[in-house]
Parts: sequence; structure tokens; C-alpha cells
Amino acid sequence: MKIDFNKNNDGLVPVIIQDYLTLQVLMLGYMNEEAFEKTKKEEKVTFFSRSKNRLWTKGETSNHYLWVKDIQIDCDRDTILILASPEGPTCHTGSYSCFGEKKSLGFIYELQQIINQRIDEKVKDSYTYKLFERGMNKVAQKVGEEAVEVVIEAKDNNENLFKNEAADLLYHYLILLKAKGYRLEDIEEVLMERNR
Ligand code: AMP
Ligand code: ZN
Ligand code: ZN
Ligand code: ZN
Repeated sequence: MKIDFNKNNDGLVPVIIQDYLTLQVLMLGYMNEEAFEKTKKEEKVTFFSRSKNRLWTKGETSNHYLWVKDIQIDCDRDTILILASPEGPTCHTGSYSCFGEKKSLGFIYELQQIINQRIDEKVKDSYTYKLFERGMNKVAQKVGEEAVEVVIEAKDNNENLFKNEAADLLYHYLILLKAKGYRLEDIEEVLMERNR
């Protein structure tokens, strides 16, 4: 991962910060090599502030740190993309992102984010995390069981039971996708391909 810090002759490279869960852009800043090394070492984002003319750890006064999840470099190694978990609002105005408030996704996507958060942050008393921890076979088995329950209720005539089992299936299916390392968007992609 060799970054071209001298493309603009000022030792600075633009850095796009993206929320690793919502994939929304949170802000843009600049890093010199020292800021980049500090960011990798501490796993929280430090920029070089052109106005302060010094290293600036985002959150140093607000405690709204940007915790690094992944670092990517663009094709010609002159721009950095950081996927981060924001500890609070990223913008100094108090809004979620410097480009406005958090966009509302469909609830299924919100649920996917909640599931990912429970698992990524190892929330010990969460059912989602506990099931995930029991491993792929157990998660897959749960999906099978819920699918069978949907089939049983489909043959019955209790609408409420059917809807609840259908909801259980969708929820456990999202956990299975996560366990396999996929997102709902990846499956959407497959379905969209079929319509081309
Ligand atoms: P913080 O790093 O969150 O403790 O904020 C420290 C200072 O940095 C603030 O008072 C602002 O001047 C500036 N600042 C914080 N967040 C941003 C941002 N997203 N974009 C530009 N400037 C910011
Ligand atoms: Zn580039
Ligand atoms: Zn801002
Ligand atoms: Zn069920």
C-alpha cells in the first residue's frame, strides 16, 4: 500500500471517509504521511488540517472519533478511502455527515445494519450475536427451520402466524448472509443480473 504523497507537491492526499455500515460519505479531509501512519497505528482517523496547520485527530475535542474499519487506495494511489465507524456526528454542525443527515434506507436495510452492528461489535447479550457465534451450520439450520415453519403456516389459515414466520425467515436469512460474508445488496445484484 504505497501512497503517492507528493503528487500535489504539498505532501497531502485527499481522504474520503465513508460510514462502513451505511456506505454514506461522511467527510473529506487531507493526510500527510505522518497523519496516515498515526491513523493506521491508532485505528482512528487523524488528518493534517490545512487551517490548523497541524495533525488533527477527528474527535480530539468532541470525542466523535472515526474508528477505522478498512483503508483503500485508488487506482493511481493518490486518494485514500477510509471505511469507518463514527462514534458520533461527524460534522462540527452536529449533523451525521458533512453532506447532510443520514439517509433513510428501507427498513430491511436498517435491520441489516443493526444485525451487522450486533455481530461486528460482539454485543454479548444480543440474540443475533449469540446465534452467529454458534457458527455457520447452526445459522443455516435456523434458516431451514424457519423456512419449514413458513411452509407449515402457508398451508394453515392463520394470517398472523404466517406473517410472523415470514418475518422470522427474513431476519434469520440476513444473519446467514452476514455469516457467509455477503450483504443483501450482493443478492440483489444477482437478481438484477437476471433481468438484464
Ligand atoms: P473534533 O475533531 O470533532 O473534536 O472537532 C474539533 C474542531 O475541528 C471543530 O471545532 C471544528 O473546527 C473542526 N471540525 C470538526 N469536525 C469537522 C468536520 N467534519 N469538517 C471540518 N471541520 C471539522
Ligand atoms: Zn487517483
Ligand atoms: Zn462538516
Ligand atoms: Zn419461526
